[in-house]
Amino acid sequence: MLDEIGVAARILEEGVIVPDFTVRDRGRTLAHIDFRSLRTPYPFTLMLSQARTEEILDTVLHEHGCRVERGVEFVSFAAPGSGERALLRHQDGTLETVAARFVIGADGLRSRVRQERAIAFDGEEYPASFVLADVSLSWPLPTAEVQLFFAEQGLVVIAPLPGGRHRIVATMDDAPAQPTVADLQRILDDRGPGQAVVHSVVWSSRFRVAHRLAERFRDGNVFLAGDAAHVHSPAGGQGMNLGIQDAIALADLLSDVVAGNRADEDLAEYERLRRVAAQRVIALTDRMTRLATLRSPVLRPVRNAVIGAFLGSPRRQTALARRIAQLDAPVEVKAPRRG
Ligand SMILES: Cc1cc2nc3c(=O)[nH]c(=O)nc-3n(C[C@H](O)[C@H](O)[C@H](O)COP(=O)(O)OP(=O)(O)OC[C@H]3O[C@@H](n4cnc5c(N)ncnc54)[C@H](O)[C@@H]3O)c2cc1C
Repeated sequence: MLDEIGVAARILEEGVIVPDFTVRDRGRTLAHIDFRSLRTPYPFTLMLSQARTEEILDTVLHEHGCRVERGVEFVSFAAPGSGERALLRHQDGTLETVAARFVIGADGLRSRVRQERAIAFDGEEYPASFVLADVSLSWPLPTAEVQLFFAEQGLVVIAPLPGGRHRIVATMDDAPAQPTVADLQRILDDRGPGQAVVHSVVWSSRFRVAHRLAERFRDGNVFLAGDAAHVHSPAGGQGMNLGIQDAIALADLLSDVVAGNRADEDLAEYERLRRVAAQRVIALTDRMTRLATLRSPVLRPVRNAVIGAFLGSPRRQTALARRIAQLDAPVEVKAPRRG
């Protein structure tokens, strides 16, 4: 999809190509997911910070003559009529009313657009809290891999980042706002393969995870896309990818409707396709998160045996890789075009 909008080559220049995910219990490998088996010109995952990905998307938008106005806040809708009238607040406090035929609420988890339209956003929060850190690390295992470790003390995931850094994500009770070198070293000593040394922390944070899905992705000429429409656990790194697919599918549909190549009724396709895609990602990440954060000492060996047996099959490995890559998601709007 990023290829279609002229972004793939640029992110490939900067990202780290990672074709393998492994799941381990301390030193023992339970499962291996090989993305090379995917039938796509890009049979791998790519590690690049979201901030950099957003900068690249912004540059490409700029090259197409579009400018993102930062610091302008959507406040509310005026009374609905033919066309939407949105009240915006600029950074200096000035208010502006904008009339538009269509509005896309891509304003994240706490979407004001969604709230203004009274669209429910139900779901639940997971009990585990997580720490997240980008670190400089001496690491004994292959570095072109995402490695997920199950351990009695909890979960830890290690992923390579550009510039030789690593990202650590781990469950941690009462996670501190900014985990330190000592916190992260202890996590790796307790749960990792041994012989790992954390040298420095470039950036660190903590987060909790919930899954929620908007009851509707559309209300008349107002649409929801990205985290405004769906949030879920970051297991498998799929949230931004899902949102980008929403945006491209919706942009294709709206530009066809505006150009008169498609009927207004076809706009229903967006919710029909993309809500199902979000439901599928939520179901998969929910299962992955519950399995990965399982604490019961009785159930953990059972989980490890089941994962090992299930992902022992190359066919199932490929199916999971396809699903994590969202290559199985319906994106294209299939309704017939006019003329
Ligand atoms: C720990 C963690 C790891 C993750 N890892 C991955 C990963 O590896 N891969 C992946 O694909 N995804 C990942 N995700 C998910 C990803 O970060 C989100 O899905 C993505 O940021 C959603 O993008 P968005 O544009 O929909 O929402 P956001 O990124 O939340 O952006 C919303 C924007 O709307 C603006 N806004 C809010 N309210 C208003 C308003 N009233 N008026 C105007 N503007 C407003 C905000 O300022 C912001 O700029 C991860 C998430 C977490 C928490």
